[in-house]
Amino acid sequence: MDSKVKYIFVTGGVSSSLGKGIISASLAKLLQARGFSVTIQKLDPYINVDPGTLNPYEHGECYVTEDGAETDLDLGHYERFSNTFTSQANNVTTGRIYQNVINKERKGEYLGTTVQVIPHITDEIKRSVMLLGKTGKYDFVITEIGGTVGDIESFPFVETVRQMKWELGNDCAVVHLTLVPFLKAAGELKTKPTQHSVKTMLEQGVQPDIIVCRTEQSLNQGIKKKIAQFCNVQPTSVVESLDAQTIYEVPLLMKEEGLDTEVLRITHTEVPETMDLDNWSRFVTRLKNPKSEVNIGLVGKYVELKDAYKSINEAFIHGGVANECKVKVIDIHSEEIKEDTKEELLGKLDGILVAPGFGGRGIEGKIVAVNYARENNIPFLGICLGMQCAAIEFARNVLGHRKAHTTEIDKNTPDPVIDLMEDQKKIKNMGGTMRLGSYKCKLDTESITYGLYEEKLISERHRHRFEFNNMYREAFENEGVRLAGINPEEDLVEIIEIKEHPWFVGVQFHPEYKSTVRRPHPLFVGFVAAAINHRIKNQKA
Ligand code: GLN
Repeated sequence: MDSKVKYIFVTGGVSSSLGKGIISASLAKLLQARGFSVTIQKLDPYINVDPGTLNPYEHGECYVTEDGAETDLDLGHYERFSNTFTSQANNVTTGRIYQNVINKERKGEYLGTTVQVIPHITDEIKRSVMLLGKTGKYDFVITEIGGTVGDIESFPFVETVRQMKWELGNDCAVVHLTLVPFLKAAGELKTKPTQHSVKTMLEQGVQPDIIVCRTEQSLNQGIKKKIAQFCNVQPTSVVESLDAQTIYEVPLLMKEEGLDTEVLRITHTEVPETMDLDNWSRFVTRLKNPKSEVNIGLVGKYVELKDAYKSINEAFIHGGVANECKVKVIDIHSEEIKEDTKEELLGKLDGILVAPGFGGRGIEGKIVAVNYARENNIPFLGICLGMQCAAIEFARNVLGHRKAHTTEIDKNTPDPVIDLMEDQKKIKNMGGTMRLGSYKCKLDTESITYGLYEEKLISERHRHRFEFNNMYREAFENEGVRLAGINPEEDLVEIIEIKEHPWFVGVQFHPEYKSTVRRPHPLFVGFVAAAINHRIKNQKA
């Protein structure tokens, strides 16, 4: 095989939200199943340096990598599909590109030349793409370009694709994702939007090699031929992407359509004889044929947004499959949970998860939810702010500190059970300044958590400024809280459990980021198993 790195770009046209991230992740999965090493990168055309400062209404979940980069949620899909870590280098925005270029300009690195979009911005984009290729770790670098072609913002990115395609020849391929809508009134699939979208790319000098058509109805050969003819590609390069029951089916559908073999053909890469997708197929079969079902409440203030808790929802799918159980995630808005509504909202659940978050809106509802789970022996998982709420609830209702709070919300609380970390006190800038990325945690071997991980030293990803206040450790422990996980370097409480409860776990980190198809996260596997047990017990009672 040619040992040169192959660069695959994935662009989108006609409409946003067609699923470029899933197509990119699926292609990566297929190439990986054929024995290639692959990484995926997302280039985002917006001007924020990273999505860390965007609220979920703007941008859905912010995904955090091992190295503490706050990134686009598509990186979550990349990791869940490929089971390999991404990093800061895998998500680059226009803001970061300009920041780098301007920093170089200020240092005088451009030696007196006029700094321009072409070549300086495009060179910087190119550098960011090639950086991954140059690590020597990958056969393929798949680069997804956010937004749709034709947007003013994506112009420098498409221009970079044009240059790289020209320079790299057969070591580069462009996959373009479009929509082929079905017009009910005409009873027909329409190819015109795809034709226009490819024309837009051609105006910018890029001829896509493969056209992936998102559609609700199967494309017949006639339609494929038509698209091929109008868009200058082989009919085999017109790939149908039919709406799937689950995103995890997409790699299998793409295999049927030959997306990976087309990429290999275009990049002049020999097709390996074997392909191993057995585990993946087994996962999809189990996902579609669950043997049991549980209802787990997801308590948060953004539940009406589909993408706000993406990784949590996906981790429930992985944890469900590991238990051959369908997890029905019931979205519960934290602002609606009150003393007089809690029974109705939470009474029938087999498990309660209190979500991460920032700020005071809905926090009292979260605390009521924790209280309900604790007193009614309902399996509970609190993540980040959810864990902090568990500590506040315990302090208020068990330790009797009625005004206990986190100083994030009540600066003057007499009992700051959750308080700002020392090194956060002097920080002024908001972007990229939290406790971010992977930190070690030492587990208590008596704990539920240790039973699930079966490891004494774990590492998990963080994204927060506040922390369990060590002044309260003894009081909590005396009343039955197990400090199940401690960060050894800074002596921070990372996990709390309640000994007398069947399954009550609060974690300061985000386990959801590390759950993948190949390695469902132990805490989610354990939580779903506890929910199944709770349901069985309740049915018997
Ligand atoms: N707002 C809390 C903190 O900064 C929790 C953050 C989170 O849930 N990710 O500590």
